[in-house]
Amino acid sequence: MRFYSTNNLQATVTTEEALFHSMPVDKGLYMPTPLPHLGASFFERIAGDTLADIGYAISKELFGAEINSGDLEELTHKAFPFDTPVVDLEPGKIGVLELFHGPSLAFKDVGARYMAALMSYFSKRNDKEVNILVATSGDTGGAVAMGFHNVPGIRVSILYPSGRVSDLQEKQLTTLGGNVQAFEVDGSFDDCQAIVKQAFVDAELNATLSLSSANSINIFRLIPQGFYYVRAFGQVRKYGKPVIFSVPSGNFGNLSAGVMVQQMGLPISHFIASTNLNHVVPTYLESGIYSPKASVATISNAMDVGNPSNFVRLKHLYGDDFQRTSNNVSGFFYDDEETRAGMRRINELYDYVACPHTAIGIMGLQAYLKASEKDVAGISLATAHPSKFKPLVESVLEKSVGVPERLAILSQRIKQSIQIPADYQVFKESLLQTVSSH
Ligand SMILES: *Cc1c(COP(=O)(O)O)cnc(C)c1O
Repeated sequence: MRFYSTNNLQATVTTEEALFHSMPVDKGLYMPTPLPHLGASFFERIAGDTLADIGYAISKELFGAEINSGDLEELTHKAFPFDTPVVDLEPGKIGVLELFHGPSLAFKDVGARYMAALMSYFSKRNDKEVNILVATSGDTGGAVAMGFHNVPGIRVSILYPSGRVSDLQEKQLTTLGGNVQAFEVDGSFDDCQAIVKQAFVDAELNATLSLSSANSINIFRLIPQGFYYVRAFGQVRKYGKPVIFSVPSGNFGNLSAGVMVQQMGLPISHFIASTNLNHVVPTYLESGIYSPKASVATISNAMDVGNPSNFVRLKHLYGDDFQRTSNNVSGFFYDDEETRAGMRRINELYDYVACPHTAIGIMGLQAYLKASEKDVAGISLATAHPSKFKPLVESVLEKSVGVPERLAILSQRIKQSIQIPADYQVFKESLLQTVSSH
């Protein structure tokens, strides 16, 4: 499999290059080429399997020429020890695809763990330890830290702004130990990001360490997200209806992954892009005009994105054809007031507790079903466990929300971080020290 940059269709790179260097030098985004058409019958055949087996079957088609099948099978099973079940709210009409049964309780586990497993494979093959640097404002860092924890051949350094992440997020970053080192920066998220950026252009540091980023734009986080669309399809095909997906969206990685697997042949008949007030894509789908904006803060804050990084990927997938895009994707958006009301209604109607992002997905699906009057099996992606937004969900629903055991035990663990000022030289010395002491 090779990858082109959305800024240069001619110059393609290998799997390994796209994996370890998330972003092409021309600042485009990598896309797989050619995207293999596996056909509906291929997906019909594997859709009843576990998430890990589905992941293995598709990975073999994509990377079988570069990675032997024994290794591929092992790495997909290591990446996906959990399931992504569909919970019926209205059987055959509205289902919720729960993507939060992994370690950090959000769908980002799926992409982070697969990327980590692939990086581990190549680092072993090259017999070279890889150092991942990540700056996080809280959420993504947890999925990455947990995804890479105890993965052989990889060391992870996470930089986060001191005092500016939630207690639970901090525990996810700082209590793992082993190959994961947290740097607590006396500064903002932007300071953390600036330090990481400087590290990548520091020739001396790069001569000593093999540095890589686990950036959210890495195409290897998107590819595995296609696997759970297949798993969901397998759980609702018994209804014998066309299958549609509603995707609560921010940077539109999740939706791009769905369109990618649809183009590989998974029979998905329609998508719904559900957003909060950051609605540049729903507006584009109505008007054909894309005008990125500064993001506005909402209660579904993982979707507060004013200029979605994967919009350019969506455009490429549809050959820059607006008509084709808007025939395949409908958009809906909701403000905070509507989101709160939606969370309450979902709880009353279905006795289901949805996080604000998930509620927006379900609302978009309901709105589409009502407007189109289509008889379809609708699935809304549940992107995070409600306990990740415990204070908010509890105040909206006026009831308590349980925290899963695997997260609750974190609160008893002791935080371990290296505290540094927002200063690149201090970070560099400290990083070299921690690496050499292992
Ligand atoms: C990241 C995230 C989203 C948005 O997903 P994109 O792929 O960026 O569109 C939605 N919900 C939750 C809980 C998230 O963490």
